[in-house]
Amino acid sequence: MTNSTETDSPLASRALNLLDCGVIVVDANHEIMVWNAWLAPRSGRSAARVRKQSLFDVFPTLRGSRVEAAVLAALADNTATAIPLSDNRTPFPLRQAGSFDGAPIDQSVAVTPFDEDGERYCLIEIRDISGAMDRERRLLDHAESLRARSYVDGLTGIANRRYFDVAIDRELRRAQRHDRELSLLLIDIDSFKAYNDHFGHQQGDTCLTAVAQALAGQLKRPADVAARYGGEEFAAILPDTTAEQARGVANAIREHVASLGIPHAPAAGRPCVTLSIGVASFSKERLNETAVLIEAADKALYAAKHNGRNLVVVDGEG
Ligand code: GH3
Ligand code: MG
Ligand code: MG
Repeated sequence: MTNSTETDSPLASRALNLLDCGVIVVDANHEIMVWNAWLAPRSGRSAARVRKQSLFDVFPTLRGSRVEAAVLAALADNTATAIPLSDNRTPFPLRQAGSFDGAPIDQSVAVTPFDEDGERYCLIEIRDISGAMDRERRLLDHAESLRARSYVDGLTGIANRRYFDVAIDRELRRAQRHDRELSLLLIDIDSFKAYNDHFGHQQGDTCLTAVAQALAGQLKRPADVAARYGGEEFAAILPDTTAEQARGVANAIREHVASLGIPHAPAAGRPCVTLSIGVASFSKERLNETAVLIEAADKALYAAKHNGRNLVVVDGEG
């Protein structure tokens, strides 16, 4: 192994040392016979230093690894192995060249046996896949942020209808499984059409955002969900909350929004923007399905409208 490797042909040796991957050949005793130039700066070991040494003495951390198993299988059974990526991504303790304390190199490793002059050898190819892994990580991050955004209402910044649909199903099943309380509020801005007609759609949007933020601010528990249900309707999912407790929360929301004193349109017949809220609570016997629970909350909301608005009505009252 003059220079970095020992081969019969200087041309082949030159090419081997130009390869953009690590090439190791060990003999049947695991002794290193070929060690190309790619490996030296990344392992901190020159070809001269590792020549005729056992691969597993040079890299003790390979002991017990998939690479060791693959090399032993290659030498004993003539079996070729590509180490799966789901495994350890840095089986060889290699670091990026060019800096004193370079980042570990993510590797793909292929192990191939071959026979030469009646002797068994094992070729180990090590490729740097750090770039591909970085790209994969970035793509995963990007997908995650897209997924998160797909659950947020673009106008108000609270959860959107899609998130609501997932959350209400999940919470209902949880309540059913563990025999827990669960309440749902459906919340609708009173006479919002008049607001829009008077102040314009853009100010309508600003009002919607203010109400959404006020609603979200009134929900204190981490498991509570405030969502935009559609148009000028909102929903609150309140796990572990009885109907009576939910009535309290609903009234707090209603009073808080009224106290914001957002001036309403003259045609609304009320000085400030207010909310009507319908409350329904999970029960094993009756309101035990998402659609049924939502329908009950919607009926209660309708009753609140019918009874004069700026009101909370709980399912079963009217
Ligand atoms: P009620 O008290 O019975 O709820 O009356 P309302 O006027 O609030 O109800 P209605 O369903 O008649 O009107 C709802 C209005 O909400 C009509 C629609 O223009 C407005 N709206 C729905 N979505 C948006 C939105 O994203 N932005 C704005 N600015 N307005 C919206
Ligand atoms: Mg409405
Ligand atoms: Mg309305």
